[in-house]
Amino acid sequence: MDDAEAHMRDLQKQRKQIENEINDIQQSCKHENVTIKPLHDEKGATIVRWVCDTCQFIVRYPTEQEIRDWVGYEK
Ligand SMILES: [Zn+2]
Repeated sequence: MDDAEAHMRDLQKQRKQIENEINDIQQSCKHENVTIKPLHDEKGATIVRWVCDTCQFIVRYPTEQEIRDWVGYEK
């Protein structure tokens, strides 16, 4: 096993731990403060979602009216 491979395994282990910690926080969070935010999907397209301010969990999809209000608000 070369250095890059060992390093990669170490990084993936750390990422798994971080994902678990994020998951724990999101599971215990009540998502009391949410903000509508632009995000990027895996293809790089912009998507708009209600996101928890505390844990960054995607809480729900905005309605068309909420998107319209948000677009107006951003300008
Ligand atoms: Zn939350």
